[in-house]
Amino acid sequence: MNIILLGPPGAGKGTQAQRLVERHGMRQLSTGDMLRAAVKAGTPIGLQAKAVMERGELVSDEIVSGIIGEELDAMGPDAGAIFDGYPRTEAQAMSLEKLLADRGRTLDHVIELEVDEDALVERITGRFTCATCGKGYHDKFEQPKLPGTCDKCGGTEFKRRPDDNAETVRTRMAEYRAKTAPILPYYEAKGIVTRINGMAEMDEVTAEIEKVIG
Ligand code: ADP
Ligand code: ADP
Ligand code: ZN
Repeated sequence: MNIILLGPPGAGKGTQAQRLVERHGMRQLSTGDMLRAAVKAGTPIGLQAKAVMERGELVSDEIVSGIIGEELDAMGPDAGAIFDGYPRTEAQAMSLEKLLADRGRTLDHVIELEVDEDALVERITGRFTCATCGKGYHDKFEQPKLPGTCDKCGGTEFKRRPDDNAETVRTRMAEYRAKTAPILPYYEAKGIVTRINGMAEMDEVTAEIEKVIG
C-alpha cells in the first residue's frame, strides 16, 4: 500500500502518518523530517535547504525527489509507504510516479486533509515534538499525559521548529495554494482522491483514514 497525505502546513499529516506507522507498520516518508535531519547533520543538501526552509519556500524538486528515492530503496519492497509532505509540486508528482513504477509500486490513495486556513496558524504555532522520538504534540490540542514527559518514549526534551511562526506560515500556506493544491486534479483524474475533514478530532480523522485504506 502506497498513500499520499496531502494538506496545507498544520493539516495533521504528520500526526496521522505517525498513527498509521504504529497501527499498520507502514513507513512514513516525510521530506520535511528528512530535510531537517540533513540541516542538523550539515550535509551539502542541508546547507542548501536551510535558508529556503526558514523562509517557508520550497526546496528544489531534484533534492526532494532524490532523497525520496533513496528512502524507498532503503526501506525494502514489502513495507507500505505513507508520503507526508511529498509531492508538493507537479514536477514532484511526476517524479514520484516514476520512482514508484521503477520499484514495482503503485499509488493506492491520495488522502486530502481539508482544513480552515484560519485554524492553521494556531495549530502551527502550538506545535512541538519530542526531541528523542519525534512524537508530535500541541500546546492546546495534544499535551503529554504527564506534563514534560513524552507519552511514547518517556523523553523529557522537546523542540519547536524555527519555521513554525506566524509569518513563515503565511508563506508556506501561499506555497501550498500556488504549487501543491494544483496537483490534486491530476490524482482526481485517476479516481484515487478522498477528502477528509481535517478539522475533526484527531481520532475521528484517523478513523476516516482507516476506512479509506481498509
Ligand atoms: P502537518 O504535518 O500537516 O504539518 P501536524 O500533524 O504536525 O501537521 O499537526 C500540526 C499541529 O496540530 C500539531 O501540533 C498537532 O498536534 C495538531 N493537530 C493535528 N491534528 C489535529 C486535529 N485534528 N485537531 C487539533 N489539532 C491537531
Ligand atoms: P509542514 O508539515 O508543516 O507542511 P514540512 O515539515 O512538510 O512542513 O516541510 C517543512 C519545509 O521543508 C517546507 O516549508 C519546505 O521548505 C521544505 N520541504 C518539505 N518537503 C518538501 C517538498 N516535498 N518539496 C519542497 N520543499 C519541501
Ligand atoms: Zn518521545
